[in-house]
Amino acid sequence: DTFCRQLPKLSSCQELHAHLNGSLSRFTMLELQRYLADNGMADKSNVFLDEFQIGAGDTRNLSDCFQVFNIAHALTSTKKTLSMATALTIKEFEDDGCCYIELRSTPRTTPHMTMSEYVETIVQTMRKETADMTIISCLIISINRSSTHEDANIIADVAIEYHTKYPDTVVGIELSGNPAVGKFQNFLPALDRARKAGLKVTLHCGEICNQQEVIEMLNFKPDRIGHGVCIHPLFGGNDATWELLCKSQIPVEICLTSNVNTKSTQDYNSHHFKELYNAKVPVVICTDDKGVFATSLSQEYRICAETFGIEQSKLARLSLSACNYIFAEDKRKILSDTMLNFINKYEL
Ligand code: 5GP
Repeated sequence: DTFCRQLPKLSSCQELHAHLNGSLSRFTMLELQRYLADNGMADKSNVFLDEFQIGAGDTRNLSDCFQVFNIAHALTSTKKTLSMATALTIKEFEDDGCCYIELRSTPRTTPHMTMSEYVETIVQTMRKETADMTIISCLIISINRSSTHEDANIIADVAIEYHTKYPDTVVGIELSGNPAVGKFQNFLPALDRARKAGLKVTLHCGEICNQQEVIEMLNFKPDRIGHGVCIHPLFGGNDATWELLCKSQIPVEICLTSNVNTKSTQDYNSHHFKELYNAKVPVVICTDDKGVFATSLSQEYRICAETFGIEQSKLARLSLSACNYIFAEDKRKILSDTMLNFINKYEL
C-alpha cells in the first residue's frame, strides 16, 4: 500500500515540458484574478475559467487551443502576478511529487514589464521564493514561432544574458507556438546563437504533418524535442523522418493528455508513445499545460502505465532514464541517485 502511494510520486521525478501560462490551476487563476481586482486592475468576474480548460470532448482543434493562452496572459501581465503564478505552479508540481522542473515561458512585453523584466521576475522567484522548497526549478526561455525574426533575436539575447548571469536557473531555449504558423528556418539563427552560448535546445517538432520541417529540426540536433507526433509513418511521418529520429536518439517529451485533447492523437491507445517506447527512442513523460488540460504529472504517469501496460519497475526505470535528459547537467546525478534509492528500496 505504501509502495502504491509512493510510486506515482517518486516516479514522477522530473517535469521537462511545462508551459507556465498553460500550467495555471483554477486555484492559481483565482488568486491572480483576486489580486488584480483588489488592486483595481481587473473586474471580479470569473467567466474565463471555463473557457481556459480543454477537456476530452472539446470541439476546439489545435489552432483554436492557442486562443486560451490569452486568458492566462491577461492574468500574468504584472510582475507581482507573474511571480505569484510561478511560485504557485512550482508548489503544485512539488505537491504532486515532482522533484525537478524545467518550467518554460515566452518573454512578453506588457504594459507593466519589458521582456527582460519578465525573465528577471521568473528567475528571481525561482531563486528566492521557491528556494525553501525541495523541488529544484529551472527556466527554459520560449520563442513563439508566430513572433518576428527581430523579436526572436531579442529573446535569444535575453536568454543568453540571463544564462550567463544565472547558469543554474536559465538552462535552455525552445521553439513553440502554433505549428501552423511560421517556419523553423527563420528561427534557426537565433536558436543556434543561444546554443553556442551554452543553452540547451528543445523544439516542438512534428505536432502537425510537415515532414520537411521535421527533417530540418532533427538535422539541427536539438537536445530534446517536444511531442514528435507526425514522425512515425503511422501518424503522418515517413520512413525518412522515423529513421532519422531512431538513429539520432533525441529524447522526446511525451504529453499524452495534451495530444488527445487537442486531437493531435485519436485516443490514448493509439498514441505514438507505444512506437517510440518499443523502438527504444528515449522518452520523458510530461504534462505540457496541466491547467488547460486539467492533468498532473502523476496522472500522466498513471495513464501511461495503464494504457500501455507498463509495470511499476519499468515505470520507475522510465523516470530514472529521464534523469539523463535534464538540461541542468550538474543535477543529473542527484536526481538519478534519488530514483536509484527508490528502485533499490522496493527491489524493482
Ligand atoms: P507561456 O510561454 O506564455 O508561459 O505559455 C503559453 C505558450 O506556450 C502559448 O502561447 C504557446 O506559445 C506555447 N504552448 C503551450 N502549449 C503548447 C502546445 O501544446 N504546443 C505548442 N506548439 N505550443 C504550446
